[in-house]
Amino acid sequence: MLAQPPVRISNILEQQKQFFRTGKTKNIDFRIAQLQKLKQAITENQPAIFKALKADLNKSGFDAYFETVGILKEIDYALKHIKNWIKPQKVATPYHQFPASSHIYAEPFGVTLILGPWNYPFNLVMTPLIGAIAAGNCVVLKPSEISAQSSGVIAEIIGKTFEPSFIHVIEGGVEVSKELLSEKFDHIFFTGGTEVGKIVMSAAAKHLTPVILELGGKSPCIVDENTHLEYTAKRIVWGKFINAGQTCTAPDYLLVHKNIKEKLLNRIDKYISEFYGNIPSKSPNYSRIINQKHFFRLANLLKYGKIVVGGETNLKDLYIAPTVIEQVSWEDNIMQEEIFGPILPVLEYTDLDEAIAIINERPKPLALYFFSNNKQHQTQILQATTSGGVCINDTVMHLTIPSLPFGGVGESGMGRYHGKAGFENFSYQRSVLNKSFLFDQKWRYYPAPRGQKKR
Ligand code: NAD
Repeated sequence: MLAQPPVRISNILEQQKQFFRTGKTKNIDFRIAQLQKLKQAITENQPAIFKALKADLNKSGFDAYFETVGILKEIDYALKHIKNWIKPQKVATPYHQFPASSHIYAEPFGVTLILGPWNYPFNLVMTPLIGAIAAGNCVVLKPSEISAQSSGVIAEIIGKTFEPSFIHVIEGGVEVSKELLSEKFDHIFFTGGTEVGKIVMSAAAKHLTPVILELGGKSPCIVDENTHLEYTAKRIVWGKFINAGQTCTAPDYLLVHKNIKEKLLNRIDKYISEFYGNIPSKSPNYSRIINQKHFFRLANLLKYGKIVVGGETNLKDLYIAPTVIEQVSWEDNIMQEEIFGPILPVLEYTDLDEAIAIINERPKPLALYFFSNNKQHQTQILQATTSGGVCINDTVMHLTIPSLPFGGVGESGMGRYHGKAGFENFSYQRSVLNKSFLFDQKWRYYPAPRGQKKR
């Protein structure tokens, strides 16, 4: 058999532009049918998806379920609300324009490019895809080459479900990404690191293409003196060590009131054992580091401070134990870069203003966590800090609420998605004024009215 010639990116883009111009993607029935097809494809292919997630990150069935169930819920949410979302919004028209009506239409951009990361390789390309379809766009998807098994499964599922002129997956690494970014898309949705985000934005600037950037950074977790210690520890351990800490919104570090630090650390230790057993490397629920490069990067961070829980590593198995570290300084690499792994540094504070100052001296985080029973302190945190999202008395769970827009601010990103925000951010607002021929107000025509002339 002759080998297939490689797909030319410019050809796919041209095909999609032509398909978009037919207007089919704007039709509401078309959009609903495509969302239903996507749901069916994901449901039918769950075993293959779970297998790929296991191969890439050693995700357990439970974690793989967690990664995919959110997508299905997002599709259901979009199907339930799409008819309302697409309705043109009537707005007021000033009397000097009468007779007329004014509406805002949510219009698709055209052909959008979605670039995905490797940590939730399936969820983080499928969830934006839902917003893109709901808004009526054509899509080119590029999953991360680093989670290679998931990338293959995504290409296969999309390839057998959709026409390439509507949605097409292009697999490949940084070179392919660069080639894609040199093309003129109508919109780009990128999830990944802050530094690559800057590369994406400058490539987009060459074509004046609008971008959504879902980036990372160090998300702080503050624990007040007055908190429910058991739930606090349990929820921190879950959010930090799920997917072996390779979660963009995982608490990066803890800032704990000094009076409860020891008690909290004891409970964190307890819940690590409860969730993953005394030897987490044997737990069926504990993920692995994605590759050797990240393994070495993380293993290097273990040399800072004093390890109080965990610290074991195994290169052959790409295993790094759930680890808690004390006595780190802000000058150490571990506090300078996003950890993105199962290492939790713990710092203490004595006064909430001190914790707030620490956060405000640093780039605006993607997520901010605050554990406290004190309502006044909760308000103070909300008023005095900036972050993409906030979760009070829990970690990571704010992402699972489809009615809450998700995204960063400043260095943690720009633009929002999930639920209606996904639809809105894959659309632009088209303003339409519709005038009547019933009569014609004279005020704007020459010669100017007498009163105007005198002035
Ligand atoms: P990454 O930035 O290395 O890669 C993301 C995508 O960009 C991949 O598809 C990759 O092929 C492409 N890419 C990489 N280098 C490139 C270059 N020089 N030019 C053009 N394209 C390039 O990110 P990653 O390592 O896959 O993911 C980890 C980062 O992503 C972390 O910082 C994490 O916080 C962040 N993240 C953010 C979110 C969010 O929703 N905000 C979600 C997951 C991960």
